[in-house]
Amino acid sequence: MDRRSFLATLISGVALAAVGGGAGYALGREGLDPLALVPGSDAMPSTTATPAPTLVYPDGRPVPTVLPQAQEVFGQFAVPRTARIRVPSGEISALPGNGNRLALTVDDGASAETIKGYCDFVERTNFRMTFFITSQYDGWDQNMKQLRKLVDRGNIQIANHTTTHKDLTAVSSSTVADQLAGCERYIKNNFGITGHPYFRPPFGRINDNVAHVAANQGYSTPVLWYGSFGDAGRVSYASIRSLARRWLQAEHIVIGHANFPPVTHCFDYIQNILHARKLQPVTLDDVYQRNI
Ligand SMILES: [Zn+2]
Repeated sequence: MDRRSFLATLISGVALAAVGGGAGYALGREGLDPLALVPGSDAMPSTTATPAPTLVYPDGRPVPTVLPQAQEVFGQFAVPRTARIRVPSGEISALPGNGNRLALTVDDGASAETIKGYCDFVERTNFRMTFFITSQYDGWDQNMKQLRKLVDRGNIQIANHTTTHKDLTAVSSSTVADQLAGCERYIKNNFGITGHPYFRPPFGRINDNVAHVAANQGYSTPVLWYGSFGDAGRVSYASIRSLARRWLQAEHIVIGHANFPPVTHCFDYIQNILHARKLQPVTLDDVYQRNI
């Protein structure tokens, strides 16, 4: 599958998940998929319910799936030291070059608890990531103090995912402009910075007109992705782990969502994968020099 058809597949998957809300996992307690979380319960399922996926270090040793002292074992993430390059104009879906960097980009923000989970993970491990915020969600306001601190430290970057998550290819040019301007205003008012030039079109849907209108707003670099946690809707944490194992690879831009809490039960696992693969987490600003 070439990259474009691969992206199209991913995008349609994300769109379906967003529409369906991951209804496939909304099962009753009887006959519940043992790997799925019970809707409404954020309790961590017992580890015995989770089959251990195979993950190995570069030297072939197996990586334990459950590492309560993961941080003690692996330590914190380093600050990236690679030289930055000029930000490209036009769409990006992966990082340039042959390095070992990994850009996790997390969208939306329907769950304040999940935003908080990401912030705590960043604070605990020195992880680096980019939030593409949909500014209508209260969760951003509720976590503002911690977000500001981590943005100031450079661990978290804030970029634009519109005000209300409309499909930009299905609305007028003036609505496209409003959707981007409203979120830009929110970013400026709350963080004192701009989101330029990075925006993520909702559902990954973009066309020449959207790109043109966005560029006129200062948003000249649409950011798509090369791998997904598949968690726009509610899915099991086992599914997120499986996709994390598949897509957390060197120089990938991976998309996740701050919409449902299961991902917050995957952070130790994600941390282990990154360390085992010697991947350096980065924000977009760690990779690209902005003209602002
Ligand atoms: Zn989104």
